[in-house]
Amino acid sequence: MKTEDILAKEDFQKCVDFHGHLCPGLSLGYRASQAGLKWLRAARASDEEIVAIVETDACCADAVQVMTGCTFGKGNFIYKDHGKIAFTFLNRESGNGVRIALKPDVMPGDERHAHLIKKIQTDSATESEREEFKKLHKKRSLEILEMPIADLFNLNEAKIEVPSKARIEPSKPCGRCGEPTMASKLSDLNGSLICRGCQTSL
Ligand SMILES: [Zn+2]
Ligand SMILES: [Zn+2]
Repeated sequence: MKTEDILAKEDFQKCVDFHGHLCPGLSLGYRASQAGLKWLRAARASDEEIVAIVETDACCADAVQVMTGCTFGKGNFIYKDHGKIAFTFLNRESGNGVRIALKPDVMPGDERHAHLIKKIQTDSATESEREEFKKLHKKRSLEILEMPIADLFNLNEAKIEVPSKARIEPSKPCGRCGEPTMASKLSDLNGSLICRGCQTSL
């Protein structure tokens, strides 16, 4: 599919709107989600039938939420702090899953791009450097949209026990701040049940 066609697609636009900008990470998350959904032969999860496990909290994670319908609040979007561009998509009913991980050396080292990122992060970029960065950033985002999926990611069948559905349990007031708290998150401190927030500020 041509880049202009992908950019015009409603699902891609939704990802950009949700995330706030177009960037290489968003493109990666979009492509990985598409590949994952294809593997699962499933439509967008309306409730909890798909589970997504993301191993990064970078830009790509936002595209995964939009594309799969898995969200943090439903308990079917699980974050593992592994610092890897890797995603696992599971179908809760069939138990089929796939792990999609970025191949090494996919993103050819672009020294100019890296240099500009550094300048922007340290607030020392000039206006023209900022413009140059924007152009390079967009170019990379578009390249990722066009690349064959096999050049971007390794896809491997995943066998993971499907995590349990979002838990709903009654709350009890914390013995210190009085705020209603999930009972399983309270712990005993000198005979009264204290929430985690109060424990860390004690
Ligand atoms: Zn981004
Ligand atoms: Zn408390």
